Parts: sequence; C-alpha cells; structure tokens
Amino acid sequence: MNISFTASRHPKKKPEDHELSFGTRFTDHMLLMDYSLEKGWHDLRIVPYDNFSLPPSTTVFHYGQAIFEGLKAYRRKDNQIQLFRAKDNFDRFNRSARRMCIPEIERDSVLDALKELIRIEEDWVPSSHGTSLYIRPTIIATDPFLGIRASHTYLFFTILSPVGAYYPEGFNPVKIWVTSEYVRAVPGGVGEAKTAGNYAASLYASEKAQKEGYTQVLWLDGKEHRYIEEVGSMNIFFVINNTIVTPELNGSILSGVTRNTVIQVARKNGLSVSEKRISIDEICEAHEKGELSEAFGSGTAAVISPVGTIRYKDHILTIKNGVAGPISTMLFDEITGIQYGEKEDSFQWTE
Ligand code: PMP
Repeated sequence: MNISFTASRHPKKKPEDHELSFGTRFTDHMLLMDYSLEKGWHDLRIVPYDNFSLPPSTTVFHYGQAIFEGLKAYRRKDNQIQLFRAKDNFDRFNRSARRMCIPEIERDSVLDALKELIRIEEDWVPSSHGTSLYIRPTIIATDPFLGIRASHTYLFFTILSPVGAYYPEGFNPVKIWVTSEYVRAVPGGVGEAKTAGNYAASLYASEKAQKEGYTQVLWLDGKEHRYIEEVGSMNIFFVINNTIVTPELNGSILSGVTRNTVIQVARKNGLSVSEKRISIDEICEAHEKGELSEAFGSGTAAVISPVGTIRYKDHILTIKNGVAGPISTMLFDEITGIQYGEKEDSFQWTE
C-alpha cells in the first residue's frame, strides 16, 4: 500500500522529559486510513494531527462500535528507536476487529506505515528511563446512520503521545479494591476485545474504589463473582509458594501482551508459572497461611505494577509490607531492559 505524507505547517513545541505525564500531549502527525464496502481499506496516509469533522449521526457516537490498541516505542541508549511486540498488538487489534464486526486491517502494511510515522516524529521520542512514545491505533464506525447494524464505513487512525509514568505511584505498590458487586465482562461477552465500551463500563466501580482510597479495582468473574479476572486495565499475577499464578485466559480477560511477556521471561529465568482459574478465597487463604509473597499487575502503560494492599469485603491483605518484591522487581528490570535495548532481546520482540 502506498503511503502519502502531508507535513504539518504548525509544528508544536516538544515537551521536556520531566514534563511528561500519561496521554496528554500528541505529536505533529497521525496515520489515517478509510474503509468502504466498495474499496475496502484504502488511502493510508500520514497527515497533520488535527480535529475530525463528523456528523452527529455518526454511528460510533451512539453504539460504540470502536476498537483500539496501546503499544510503545522506546529510545535505546544507542539512540535507535524500537517498537516492542508491535505485531502482537496488531494481531490483537484484528481479533478485536472480528469480535466487533469491524473489517480487519492488513497488519504488515499498517506496521510499515507506523514505522514511517515514527521516523517522521523521531524527535518526539523521549529518552529518559521510564519515558516512551505511546502509540494508540483506533478504528471507529463512521456511517451517518442510527440503525443498529455493523457500519459500512470506518476510519482507522493512529496518534502518538510522548509519555512518562502511568501511575503517580511509579514502581511503588498500589492499593486495590476487590468488587464483588460490579463486573467488567461476562462469559460470551466482549471482555477479550479491546473495545471502547469496556472502559466506559469500568468507570463507575473505579470511581468508587478511588473514593475509598484505592488506585484500582480487582475484577472478579461476571457469573459467580468468585474468580479473579483482571486489575483495572492490567492483568494480574500472584506469587504463591514461589509459583507465579495468573488467571487463565477464558474469553472475558484481555490477553495482555505484557502478560505473555511476563510468563515467557519468568519461565526463561527458571520460575514456574501456572495459568489457572483462581478464586479470591484462595488468595485470602494463601495470605493467611503466609504463602502469598507478591502480587502485581502487568500492562503496556506501567509494565509491572506491584500490589501492596488488597481489600476484599472486611479483609485487608497487606503484601510484603507494601514494598515491591524480588520477583516483581526482577521482571520489571528484565522487561524494561529489553524494551530500552539494554538487555539482549533473545525473544526477538523488538523491531
Ligand atoms: N487488561 C485490560 C482490560 C487492558 O486494557 C490492558 C491494557 N491493554 C491489559 C489488560 C494489559 O494488556 P497489555 O499488556 O497488552 O497492555
């Protein structure tokens, strides 16, 4: 696919690394592509970052037929810029597309266009440790039509945002609140798809948790409200009797790229990892017996986020006295080492 490029006539001032937070600033250009039934995906182009003009009848505003991804590019010590597991993110993007009746994109040509966009925006990629260029590919349904059916037209776009730490806590352990009242996803639903409505649906419980002084919600399964699913917008891991345990993928859990990275890096370092159904009662019991030594979330934004406190009904579990444990720390160092080009990428995850 040919990519056309229109340069911005109003380049913005680039932020200093220390000014960066998460997702508030955007680079000068973005990637766009259109879909119609007649032409399929067409007109892949790099254009100045700008507003969209869409009629109020646009279907995505009403029924939320939208998907997105989140991945990062990192500046290495040798000043090269590299993407981490980008193919895996675009494969998940296409799985989300299928589930939401959105036509799939051609992964490799879009990835080439993304690399071209990053080359153009190279000076926007920050360099200090913990900073990166966050990449947000998105597809929205654009038919100007109020009937409920899959749209016949779509807009694909990708915007870039230089970012610092996702959580103000940084690598310090977070407090999480288990909700047995609200659920994120149900069997047969869309929990496994990265679709807009999942995030809107999570806000109410998250706000409640924050009012109680907790950073994130730990979601239980949508049927029995017993089995652990995810934490906020991260996958969750526990270390019990020196085994790393994480809920198995069941259709309502998002298949995190970092989750898979953690599993592979842990196994390569000789640790045992078990993917299985695990209940909140088992976690409370392991904590009571002194067998729960660490808990952490995994996701692109924070990489590894240690969990210091879990509140479930009247139980308040404190883990490792609220400091990051050795396995969380080792995984964080190994994974960020590969992402920043400081450690050998034996898995060939970077490009
Ligand atoms: N679960 C949910 C619900 C998420 O939104 C994310 C972030 N994409 C994750 C888990 C972690 O996925 P990843 O490691 O691919 O960022």
